[in-house]
Formats: sequence, structure tokens, C-alpha cells
Amino acid sequence: MGNAPYNGYSWQQRARIMPAFRKLTGRTAPFEGEPCAMCGNPDRPLNEWHSEDYSEPFSYQPPASYPLCKPCHGRLHKRFNAPPGEWELFCLHLEAGGYGSEFTQLRGLSERRVLSEQIASGYKIELPVVRARSPGSYWWRALTLDPESLVAPWGRPRPLRPRPHVAAFRHAFEEARLSDCDSAFLRAHAAAPRRTATMRMLAREALGKDDPKTGNLLYGKLAGRLTTLLQWEPDLREDGSPVWMSLLAEGWWPPGREYEWTMVPTAAQALRDYLSLEKAISPLSQISS
Ligand SMILES: [Zn+2]
Repeated sequence: MGNAPYNGYSWQQRARIMPAFRKLTGRTAPFEGEPCAMCGNPDRPLNEWHSEDYSEPFSYQPPASYPLCKPCHGRLHKRFNAPPGEWELFCLHLEAGGYGSEFTQLRGLSERRVLSEQIASGYKIELPVVRARSPGSYWWRALTLDPESLVAPWGRPRPLRPRPHVAAFRHAFEEARLSDCDSAFLRAHAAAPRRTATMRMLAREALGKDDPKTGNLLYGKLAGRLTTLLQWEPDLREDGSPVWMSLLAEGWWPPGREYEWTMVPTAAQALRDYLSLEKAISPLSQISS
């Protein structure tokens, strides 16, 4: 594992999962006797496994954790620094039924380099079948190559600190009697790429003006109301004051950019449910909007 961040989790957070498993089960590692979840190789060291999700409570099953063989595990983590096209070539190798360990055995470095370069420049490559493999929606195909995912909150499948469930959020949206302005903020946030936006972007969308300060005030106020309705404990600043936005989003300061908020998945899902329900009850609102 080393001391590197992954999917928005610090290495310190990542290091907690192994002792937690041992404490919970008394066993050394999960997935005993299971083949690699990428290449299917049954020959896999017991201690070799991978997590995409280090939020607590930890989950020791897919889609949070997977058994992996050593070569697949190594390639997965090195995909960010691999030469362009190489991760795709590895994926194609797996899809052709190759084991992770066979990737370098079947093709020498120079051939791999040429193929990777061809892929990177847009050529479609087809590899001969190594062994039959059922086509599927392979989870590792959805992995990002954006190195920002290593440290950004949007890289986390779940928020670091648990947030209210979808049903609770939806109930709070109903109780709060959202104004058009409230809805506009929530909609803009949920619709942002990776559910991530700066207050400036949200103010532009919801208020139609470049005014992050007013955005902070209005959206923060809404978050405060929802926090009270949900009786949730918000994050606190060093001076002890509540960060109301922490109910709805996880924030971070990307180097060289403005502060960004990533809406938590349960809030975004609850909003979608709430809006579709609202539409169903009042068809007139569709016409007028
Ligand atoms: Zn493997």
C-alpha cells in the first residue's frame, strides 16, 4: 500500500482498513481462496487485495473491496503514471482472457510500447484471445486516469464521515419547503460534473451572477436549515463554529483554484427523487418552467 493517497483518502485513513478487518473477523485477510477480481487468476497471494472505498464503516466486499493478484494490483495503482495507452492495453489484455502475470510474458517491452503508443494515438487494437472469458461490465473499466482523484473528495465513493441516508435527505427537502432559489442551488450542485463546484459556479447558475459571497450566504443558510431538520452534527471550524455546508458536501482546496464542494451522493440522489416526485404531483410546473 505504501504511504500514498488513493480515491481521496489519505494513506493514514487507508492504513486503518487492515487492522479493522483483523479485529472484526480474527482473520488475516478477506477473499480467501477467491481468484483475482480483474484477471481471474486463481493463483493469488492471500494478503493481496484492494479497496476503492476507505470510508467507515469499512466494506470488505465489492464494489468497495476486491481480491487481486499482484500484477493486476500493481498495474491498477501505477495506471496514473504509466505511459499513455498502457493501462488501456492492459485492460484489453485482461479482456482477451490474459492473466495479469502474462502481460509481460506474452509481449516484450518494445512491442508493448508500440501497442500503447498506437492506442494513445487513437488506433483500435484487437488482441488475440488468450483464454475464453465471459464478456461483462468490468468494474476496473470505470476507473479514472485523472490523478486528481487520488486526493479530491470526488474520488471517494462514500463521504469520509457518514451523511444522512437518501430517505432522510428527501424527507428534509420536503419539510424545508424549498424556495426556487434553494432548489436552484441544489439542482446546480447535483448537476455539476462529479457533483463538484465552486461557490462562484453555483452562484452563477442559481443567481445568475458572479457572486460567491451571496452564494455562500444563501446556500449556507439552506444547508443550516436542513442540518437542523435532520438533527445532524456538522463539521466544526477551529473556532468551534459550524460548517453548515458539510451536511450536503465535502470541501477541499485544489492547488491554484478556488475552494470546491463535492455534493455527497445521498443528497444528490434524494434531490433527484424529490424533483421527480414534485414533477409528478404538479404537471403545471413543467409547463410554466
Ligand atoms: Zn489479476
